[in-house]
Amino acid sequence: MITVDVKINDKKNPPLLKFANRCVNCGKTKETSLGISLNMGVEKKGGAVLLKLDAPMCNLCANKERGIAKVTLIPFLIGGFIFGMMAFLPAWAIAPEGTTPQTYGFGFAFAGFVSLIVGIISGSVIEFLVKTLAIPFYGKLIAKRPLTIFSLLTESDQLIGVSAKFLKDENIVRVTFENEESAREFRQLNSLETK
Ligand SMILES: [Zn+2]
Repeated sequence: MITVDVKINDKKNPPLLKFANRCVNCGKTKETSLGISLNMGVEKKGGAVLLKLDAPMCNLCANKERGIAKVTLIPFLIGGFIFGMMAFLPAWAIAPEGTTPQTYGFGFAFAGFVSLIVGIISGSVIEFLVKTLAIPFYGKLIAKRPLTIFSLLTESDQLIGVSAKFLKDENIVRVTFENEESAREFRQLNSLETK
């Protein structure tokens, strides 16, 4: 993995970054492209300013990327559901049941809450394990993706072969490449210095 930092001088006019005409993941001829957009955290004409990256891909890698939920979201949901359900009945059994009409549902609500927490934790653990096992197929960047539970909170975007993140405090867009050759070409095309 190799990282390229792009300094953002004007957040309202982020640079247009170019990629070489080959799949960013495997280096084969470009057949399609997938987009990444990063929110610059500023507005222009009432809309959020986005830095858009158009990552070239071959069809094979693009399809892999489209199927990435198989090793991220789906293990999280299935793992979370199974373990959450397994926690539900024991939690219901030990929960104190209310004795007044207002508290009758307490045990049920308590068990629901416990199974939600257990589901989120075990779903994340299973997602982590599946991702680790998927490295030979999807590349090392897969393991760097935030877990589903955190992915809504982070301002970065990942594709197989390339990921990008906006570091607000430093005004830097950090682009991480799986493959050194793609990183080198990206640096050349955008006249970026080597660190
Ligand atoms: Zn490819």
